[in-house]
Amino acid sequence: MRMFGRARYQYYTNVNYLTCERCLAWHGVIRSNPTDFPDHDDDCERSILPIPPREGRVYREKGKRMRTAAQGELSRRKLFEQGVEAISDSPESAIEAFRRSATYDVYVPDLERLATRHRDLLDSDPNLREGLRALFVKAFSDKFGWHRYERLPEPMRLRREEEGIERINEIFR
Ligand SMILES: [Zn+2]
Repeated sequence: MRMFGRARYQYYTNVNYLTCERCLAWHGVIRSNPTDFPDHDDDCERSILPIPPREGRVYREKGKRMRTAAQGELSRRKLFEQGVEAISDSPESAIEAFRRSATYDVYVPDLERLATRHRDLLDSDPNLREGLRALFVKAFSDKFGWHRYERLPEPMRLRREEEGIERINEIFR
């Protein structure tokens, strides 16, 4: 007789610009045996969540959204790198790639990397610099209105938003 159903577990990682591709590939995946998940041998934040009885459907739905978020992060990285590669030869297509990448998320360390790699180009082209500054400031500000970031306590959210915008203004000044 099946009294409690089979135990199930869900892989969870914190999706951001540092999350490794392996953890992104497992994010949201459900297994009945927790040893099916890879060992935790990297710096990514991760949890193996036991799924409470009768909540399988909720966790499957959540799992779909987690898969979408992980895929989105991979798309974001790809688009951002396309922009970094294209910016010298084709600034307009680079800006378009950055704009699309920012619909997924924006991370200041990526912008630092972009500016370090293309410092000379940015220094010699104020229009490009201003275009990127405006694009990333708006995207960074917008992201704090997203559901994912709305969960942060208000003062922390405001401080993070202000600090990020200040930094972006410095990078593309
Ligand atoms: Zn990882």
